[in-house]
Amino acid sequence: MPRQTTLEIGILTLFPEMFEGPMNSSLLGKAQQKGLLKVKVHDLRKYSRDKHRKVDDKIFGGGSGMLLQVEPIHRALKALKCLKGKNKPTVVYLSPQGRRLTQDIVRELAGKKKLIFLCGHYEGIDERAMTWVDEEISIGDYVLTGGEIPAMVLTDALARMVPGVVKEWGSVENDSFYNGRLDCSHYSRPAQFLGMKVPDVLLSGNHKAIEEWRKQDAEARTLKKRPDLTI
Ligand code: SAM
Repeated sequence: MPRQTTLEIGILTLFPEMFEGPMNSSLLGKAQQKGLLKVKVHDLRKYSRDKHRKVDDKIFGGGSGMLLQVEPIHRALKALKCLKGKNKPTVVYLSPQGRRLTQDIVRELAGKKKLIFLCGHYEGIDERAMTWVDEEISIGDYVLTGGEIPAMVLTDALARMVPGVVKEWGSVENDSFYNGRLDCSHYSRPAQFLGMKVPDVLLSGNHKAIEEWRKQDAEARTLKKRPDLTI
């Protein structure tokens, strides 16, 4: 089990309101109430010098779409003390061009104490803003309208790595991908439904036999559904 700490995440976005529900409901909400997780959402527009709080502009060289400008990003990262220093937060730019997110990357990032997520929009961010980015992370090979949903995905996955967020650490370790394989199948009441029975061993009370069955079931499922994980 990883060391007990508080994970601090700052999110820099054009749409702070998008985070209200997802960050304050369910386990993420509880984790914040317990002080295991701190999520602070920062409005990028606050760092604009423009009287209309504009943070985007046309792309040099022509072409369609707008771009998040380097200047407000720089001002925001400076204000959040992300530009230099030994204890500076790790700056993560959510981007379809980044490292594709896996559970191993989630574990690696969960080892950092403080993270700032930069959410792009429109055509993305001015390339010069990459100077202050430590990690570029993609949540898959497809393009979304903005980095907000990827930032929520990453926050959720990271929060589960903080001991105490999920009630039992054992269930985190048995989840899919944590140990390079998928989770086993699970059943709940009733023991029989429309003629479909729960495997007898799970009702036997024999913990050793149940553990062995779960191990074999997880291996068989991995081989069937994700043979690439077994190579
Ligand atoms: N022009 C960019 C490209 O083709 O690489 C795509 C920009 S996308 C429309 C706008 C923003 O959404 C990106 O700057 C990024 O922050 C976010 N985004 C889109 N797809 C993403 C993905 N798969 N993973 C993480 N972030 C993504």
